[in-house]
Amino acid sequence: MNIIELKHVTKKYDDGFVALKDINLTIESGKFYSLLGPSGSGKTTILRIIAGFSSATSGQILFDGKDITNLDAAKRHLNTVFQNYALFPHLDVYENVAFALKLKKKPEKEIKAAVKEALHTVRLDGYANREISELSGGQQQRVAIARAIINKPKVLLLDESLSALDKRLRKEMQFELRAIQKKLGITFIFVTHDQEEALAMSDEIFVLNEGTIQQSGTPVDIYDEPVNDFVARFIGDSNIVPGKMIQDYEVEFVNKRFECADAGINPREKVEVVLRPEDLDIVSPEKGKLVVTVESQLFLGDHFEIKAHDGDENEWLIHSTNPTEVGKEVGLYFDPEDIHVMRFGESEAEF
Ligand code: ATP
Repeated sequence: MNIIELKHVTKKYDDGFVALKDINLTIESGKFYSLLGPSGSGKTTILRIIAGFSSATSGQILFDGKDITNLDAAKRHLNTVFQNYALFPHLDVYENVAFALKLKKKPEKEIKAAVKEALHTVRLDGYANREISELSGGQQQRVAIARAIINKPKVLLLDESLSALDKRLRKEMQFELRAIQKKLGITFIFVTHDQEEALAMSDEIFVLNEGTIQQSGTPVDIYDEPVNDFVARFIGDSNIVPGKMIQDYEVEFVNKRFECADAGINPREKVEVVLRPEDLDIVSPEKGKLVVTVESQLFLGDHFEIKAHDGDENEWLIHSTNPTEVGKEVGLYFDPEDIHVMRFGESEAEF
């Protein structure tokens, strides 16, 4: 079931800057979504429009099928967890979490039970009487989530809410947030500029750039089948080389023809071919589909990052579990389904 829909939403700020251009998106109930894009791409603007903190210049916002375009933020069945958590520093954990229910003048007994349950959900049992200043960043993050889920919203909006945490804690909270979302079964819309984070956590991702949605889909769709140059470069490392479609399931690049898994593109159409570094295996030159010369090699703990070039001076990035030798000629092997063909210049044309 669709819980939120944005239809033809645009946002022009007072200074004339157009931050969102004809955004259409559908959010289903009970799933984890990410809005992913570089700084300034419009992620926060979308979140603020959904929350009702900012209004769209044109377009429509539906919630549960009802038009909420002009509905007050306070009347929307959703909560927001902000980047800085926005906790009340002078109140303890209990008072912070209880805040929304106290405002609604709920009976004390009911509030107590709800706070207990919310703190249990975020694994902060026993922290009710702690001061906010006595908590670590990760614990403050959990309090902010407990406060946001206490009145059981249908949707939780999270704005770059893990960005203040260090890397290890961030990973831990990624698992935790995902587990909380599954447990509660409510919809999460998570804003991030970190592609690994979005890939790890989401059921579906909207990739944004310059106020437009470039691609939406599951993490696997977006990683394996980027629709354009921007998505291919933004999500993970990519080798992108120019090529030409020969016929269905056959593409030419680096002056060679290769079997691929793509069809439906016109013969002779110019394309760009994406090959992910981890899909390239280093083999002997005789066994390789391409022959390259190794330029450099870095050991990154769990793999080697190898740079090489072919006879056409295309640079190739390879992730390999085994080292090779700088200066050596090696073969690169890849399967037909590892070749991802994109129509040339598709990025601008379709959006
Ligand atoms: P970040 O990751 O840096 O938070 P973002 O993708 O969330 O970026 P937004 O905050 O939505 O991006 O901003 C989108 C664009 O709109 C940016 O270029 C920003 O400078 C601009 N913008 C945001 N708020 C205003 C405003 N009040 N007036 C004018 N321009 C604004």
